[in-house]
Amino acid sequence: MVSYLTYVKIAVVVIAVIVVLIIMMLYLKRFTKINKCPNCGVKDPQRVERDLFTSIFLFFYKVQSYRCHKCWQRYYLR
Ligand SMILES: [Zn+2]
Repeated sequence: MVSYLTYVKIAVVVIAVIVVLIIMMLYLKRFTKINKCPNCGVKDPQRVERDLFTSIFLFFYKVQSYRCHKCWQRYYLR
């Protein structure tokens, strides 16, 4: 006979594992986000420092400015 407490413990462990997996997926998604240049398709473009006005403007849209190191095309990604 399995007690009620055992089911509660299993449920807590299962929920904890699911939460940990979700957190890991969110972190992996952040680190494995591959940016591609829309012009030439080169991966891993460089972040570009923005001027003050553009920074304030883009802050509200949560976009990041990138510049391709091959074709020097500037573009924005979320
Ligand atoms: Zn490019």
